[in-house]
Amino acid sequence: MIDKAKIQAAMQYYGKAYVALADVASAWERGEKPADAFFTLKNLPVRVFVEPTNRCNKRCVYCARPNMTRQSASLTLDDFKRAVDDIAAGAFLQCTGNGEPLLNPDTPAMIAHARQKGLLVGIITNGTRLTAKLSRALIEAGPHQVQISFDAVDRDVFNASYNSPRGGCSYEATLSKILRFLDMERREFRKGIFVSIASVLTDAVRSVRETSRAYWERLPVDNYFEAPLLSLQTDSGTAHLARTGEEPWKLCSNPWKAVKVNADGTVNPCVHDFSSKYVIGDIKQQPLREIVNSPAAVALRKALYYQDIDFFKAIGYNCQDCNVWSQATGHDVRGYLDGSFPVTYGLIVSQLAGCASYAPEKMENLRRAASEASGALSGM
Ligand code: SF4
Repeated sequence: MIDKAKIQAAMQYYGKAYVALADVASAWERGEKPADAFFTLKNLPVRVFVEPTNRCNKRCVYCARPNMTRQSASLTLDDFKRAVDDIAAGAFLQCTGNGEPLLNPDTPAMIAHARQKGLLVGIITNGTRLTAKLSRALIEAGPHQVQISFDAVDRDVFNASYNSPRGGCSYEATLSKILRFLDMERREFRKGIFVSIASVLTDAVRSVRETSRAYWERLPVDNYFEAPLLSLQTDSGTAHLARTGEEPWKLCSNPWKAVKVNADGTVNPCVHDFSSKYVIGDIKQQPLREIVNSPAAVALRKALYYQDIDFFKAIGYNCQDCNVWSQATGHDVRGYLDGSFPVTYGLIVSQLAGCASYAPEKMENLRRAASEASGALSGM
């Protein structure tokens, strides 16, 4: 049954966000010089990233964690509740950050809490922690969306992407866990969770992309998604390969549309800030609603608007060399409104509707694949 009221409420919420972002884009394109009030947000960003932990059990080649200077930390359930309790129903809360969220045992309880508050909830996971018990707990918590990173349906390419992972993170173990999770959700629980499989397009991953796509498309998966290499504030291990600012400056949408709450409660205006170089507040001391308009948050939006490179250099952000706003990912404000926004919020409607049906042959393919994979899972 489609929850029409919820879909209408969400569309109103995102419609307001669209209009606010369009005003920012238009003012910037006209070269206006607005007063400081222009750089404050009337509503919380449409995407709130909350980091259950910054610990990770993988070593992906394109990640910025090897250059991360933060201490290891995990968010407590109480701090999570403090972070999300003033977020309005309809906002999109993404349980992710700069670590593997399922390494925090409280993550399913966090998701259940956010869901119960009426938020749209997603999680991005590398899939390696999807034991039978944790898969069950995750599905029962009720996220709308589960995005699983799995770069390639090819053992050698997978191993190259993830620095030869072993044990529970190996190619066979990870693929088997993902199949079991999917089988559990689609045939046992049938909650209608929107499941995406995501890969990061290194050259090696690109070389087997058709095989990977064909593999996932024969299963009841909602979306197979290819992400470009990101420079991650030039801290990524493959930043030199990511296309960066050779183009005329464009206004990055990130600090207008998103915010990241770190595992220690500090907040960054850029979700790619692995080392938490620029802190705009702390949810243990101030509500998120105030933090997103703190003087530090306003100063960054202003610096982006005026391309104040000295400001970026002083805080270590390297926005001028970031590929998020360039054609590579198109997440400047205008590119985001024209490209990603309709796709993202179209998908959100599907997630809220939660009523996808899958062809019988896809369900049968899943049953067979999960059954064949189960041998790799003894004790996991
Ligand atoms: S330009 Fe890049 S580094 Fe700067 S705020 Fe945007 S996403 Fe972050």
